[in-house]
Amino acid sequence: MNNLKDFSEEEVVQMVREGKVTNRELTDSGICPTCFNKAHDGVLFGDDSEMIVYEDDIIECFLVGNPRANGHVAVSTKKHFKDMMDIDDITCERVFKFSKKAMNVIREVYNSESVYLCTMCDGPMNHFHVQLIPRYDFEERGSDNFVKPRFKYVPDKEKVLELRRRLK
Ligand SMILES: [Zn+2]
Repeated sequence: MNNLKDFSEEEVVQMVREGKVTNRELTDSGICPTCFNKAHDGVLFGDDSEMIVYEDDIIECFLVGNPRANGHVAVSTKKHFKDMMDIDDITCERVFKFSKKAMNVIREVYNSESVYLCTMCDGPMNHFHVQLIPRYDFEERGSDNFVKPRFKYVPDKEKVLELRRRLK
């Protein structure tokens, strides 16, 4: 793949639609996949509105499409920031206060023993987000929980409604 900067935005959208461009190629060309997806009606990730469990003017929280555990969510900013190191203090406060609340809610709704938090926005482009990963009583404690194998999210409407109700 050539550098995507040689193409117009419309051409890139078309290539994404045809599956000719990967996420990595977007980021390597300095294009944020999250913002690109939002700007072009979900061309990259499809309609993910069913997975959003909270949003306000600054942040949004959604179930991860390829989770490492049931109840694995991401807390992200609506505005683009490349990394936690770039966010302003107000955004920082909102993200982490909300994350604390979400961790408690996830633990209760999913009956997990604990919930882990990590953020790692690396590479030439990324969209700042925090990941909240439940750790269940049948799992060992420790940092291996950050790299549990991913699987495909299984829709669970009841859990989504419960999360939405409690995170309001
Ligand atoms: Zn972005």
